[in-house]
Amino acid sequence: MAARRLVVIGGDAAGMSAASQARRFKEPDELEIVAFERGHFTSYSACGIPYWVGGSVEGPDALIARTPEEHRERSIDLRMRTEVTEIDLDRQRVRTRDLAAPGATDAWTGFDDLVIATGARPIRPPLPGIDAPGVYGMQNLDDGQALLDALRAVEGGEHPRAVVVGAGYIGVEMAEALVQHGYRVTVVDRAEQPMSTLDPYMGRLVYEAMCGLGIETVREARVTEIRTDGEGRPGLRRGHRRRRVPRRNRRARPRRTPRDDAGAPGGTAGGRVRRTADRPVHADARAGQRLGGR
Ligand SMILES: Cc1cc2nc3c(=O)[nH]c(=O)nc-3n(C[C@H](O)[C@H](O)[C@H](O)COP(=O)(O)OP(=O)(O)OC[C@H]3O[C@@H](n4cnc5c(N)ncnc54)[C@H](O)[C@@H]3O)c2cc1C
Repeated sequence: MAARRLVVIGGDAAGMSAASQARRFKEPDELEIVAFERGHFTSYSACGIPYWVGGSVEGPDALIARTPEEHRERSIDLRMRTEVTEIDLDRQRVRTRDLAAPGATDAWTGFDDLVIATGARPIRPPLPGIDAPGVYGMQNLDDGQALLDALRAVEGGEHPRAVVVGAGYIGVEMAEALVQHGYRVTVVDRAEQPMSTLDPYMGRLVYEAMCGLGIETVREARVTEIRTDGEGRPGLRRGHRRRRVPRRNRRARPRRTPRDDAGAPGGTAGGRVRRTADRPVHADARAGQRLGGR
């Protein structure tokens, strides 16, 4: 049995980097590492999702850097489809729920050190119609699969149209992916130019490249409403014009709330913490190095 146990909540980039770093510095007899991931995938490249949707790369397997089995071979006990629902700091343990076995009794796992790497949650602007069918967000591989399924369902249809809300880099990449599916694409953004984090010169180049792909851009425009037509297809209202099939590019904010500040996992997912105290709780990518004593 190992001298200490590290528990990691969240099995994607940050969580598994921390776990891998810790393993690099500590042998299994010194440190047991248990990681919990509530989703279906671990260590995957969200950055590649637009290229998978667009057909430039195969997926989702090609987007997975390391499988659960590969982590386990490196003595990281990664438990997929397992959600951490509570942190008990007093007793240094987390409560977990097996999402693959509904109705199963929750379990507790003790820790000496805890890394919280639960990522960001997408912002859903409170627009009327935001939850209409045909409106997609893009954060993880499940989102990518849902959009691909929808695109394939209308493949061969005449003049399909899509609207991307948000001209940040993900919106621009998704617009290009939709063009590759034969869509006429409009990108709507409040800013003056796409990718407003770039300087104006670079933004202009992106704009011109989008025009070159036939992507229509609507700048300095606010989306105020999404409506569904008689055939169940969503349309978008901005000013007096409407477009069909909006694809909402969710922006994200860190998965933090005042409860998270107290150490609770999962943001609004219902995490609960019993006591706030200065305990061995880490929430950044360097945690693995610190835990390894570097
Ligand atoms: C479409 C897209 C394109 C991107 N392109 C780029 C790019 O080109 N370059 C770039 O640098 N970045 C890009 N990013 C951003 C990058 O993917 C993120 O910065 C990165 O994924 C963050 O990693 P993370 O581990 O902090 O969080 P996440 O990847 O969000 O992982 C957090 C994990 O924690 C799990 N989790 C949450 N709560 C719990 C709980 N209570 N119990 C168990 N598990 C839980 C979640 O299921 C999730 O798997 C892109 C993102 C997207 C969506």
